[in-house]
Amino acid sequence: MTADHTIVALSTPTGIGAIGVIRLSGKDAIHIANAVFAGKDLTKQESHTLHFGLIKDGDVVIDEVVVSLFVAPKSYTKENVVEISCHGSNFIIQQIISLLIRKGAHAAKPGEFTLRAFLNGSLDLSQAEAVADLIASDSQAAHQVAMNQLRGGFSNELNELREQLIHFASMIELELDFAEEDVEFANRDQLQALITRIKVVISKLIRSFELGNVIKQGINTVIAGRPNAGKSTLLNALLNEERAIVSSIAGTTRDTIEELLNINGINFRMIDTAGIREAQDAIEVIGVEKTMEKISQSALLVYLFDAAELSVSEILSDIARLQKPGVPFVAVANKMDLVAQDAFSLALPEGVQFISISAKEKSHIEDLKDLLYEVAVGDQLTENHTMVTNIRHVEALQRTQEALAQVEQGVVNPVTSDFLAMDIKQALHYLGEITGQVTTDDLLENIFSKFCIGK
Ligand code: GDP
Repeated sequence: MTADHTIVALSTPTGIGAIGVIRLSGKDAIHIANAVFAGKDLTKQESHTLHFGLIKDGDVVIDEVVVSLFVAPKSYTKENVVEISCHGSNFIIQQIISLLIRKGAHAAKPGEFTLRAFLNGSLDLSQAEAVADLIASDSQAAHQVAMNQLRGGFSNELNELREQLIHFASMIELELDFAEEDVEFANRDQLQALITRIKVVISKLIRSFELGNVIKQGINTVIAGRPNAGKSTLLNALLNEERAIVSSIAGTTRDTIEELLNINGINFRMIDTAGIREAQDAIEVIGVEKTMEKISQSALLVYLFDAAELSVSEILSDIARLQKPGVPFVAVANKMDLVAQDAFSLALPEGVQFISISAKEKSHIEDLKDLLYEVAVGDQLTENHTMVTNIRHVEALQRTQEALAQVEQGVVNPVTSDFLAMDIKQALHYLGEITGQVTTDDLLENIFSKFCIGK
């Protein structure tokens, strides 16, 4: 998969912009750029310098540009890299790229710059994947998680475990050399203790995926409640704009409406639904079905009720219908402006959080936001632990966990050292897949083909 040709691609988005940046990487990058550049001789310039000049195709001037030089190995890919900042016209960009290709560069494949950075040891695999996440991050938390992974938080944690396991694997290999003498270099109790430690860390990482993934994708939050409870009004109050249609005719919100709400840097995907009351007409039946379907996919459920209308037994029966094991549940009493402040109290089932608001008067909306954050995220982010956001990593961690269980079996019901060594190697293999000590061309192809061209 390593290639020694020089690649070229536009690294800024396509479309018209003030500038476009065309990137070249490879051993001939500087020579190729120099062949089309009228200005200083780029082959004689220092790394990390900028040069103003013209890009010319023979006598024809294509553009005035600024060229940045990064001489190997001091670049992203550890190869010679040239970045040409030209005017951001599609025509100019295409002209320059095809000129560079005529001079010997090859059009880069998706993710090829980052692939080279990985193959040349600038980044490990999980860091390379973090580059894609970083580019895609659209909230503070998603950014923080990707940045942590890019800076190696995740890799460091795994590499440490891997090294300890490698130590045991080599001790056990040593035993194989002394098979006749029946010696144990690898203390089985210590091995057992190490495996227990690793399993705890891996379980924690696997569990972090749930939140990590949610942070990347946004937390699916369903607002459910009877017609006229004030769901649309609440959504508007939360989003501070008039998006959902507010109406006093019961059953108006027929379809579901989805909006992004950012609370403390986390994206909540707010899903307003048709009422949960028994539907009368056909369209509404679809709406109600959709509600139940959305509820089944939610990661957080907000049940809104009209505190002036509903009896305690109606509220409790709604909650019983909606509650889903493992999904945080927030019961919200609305229209508190119509109810005497102290007239309302409720004994709620376990696990249900409760808050009173007035959506119309926008009172306690900030408290509700804080509660949603508290219930869905809590202090899991501030603990600053490593978070897994990538399904490939979770799968490798799960396989590691299975292989470790096998090793553990072999310690508890002693098997010969060669079997034990094999099982440990299996676990090491899966751990290595995450950070890229173990890779196959297929795996790399699969990861990098999902990148954009120019990354
Ligand atoms: P939905 O069917 O659950 O989406 O309910 P809507 O948001 O359409 O609201 C139904 C009616 O209740 C509208 O007339 C709203 O103005 C009213 N409403 C919503 N929230 C409040 C509130 O906090 N206090 C009062 N007094 N009325 C509210």
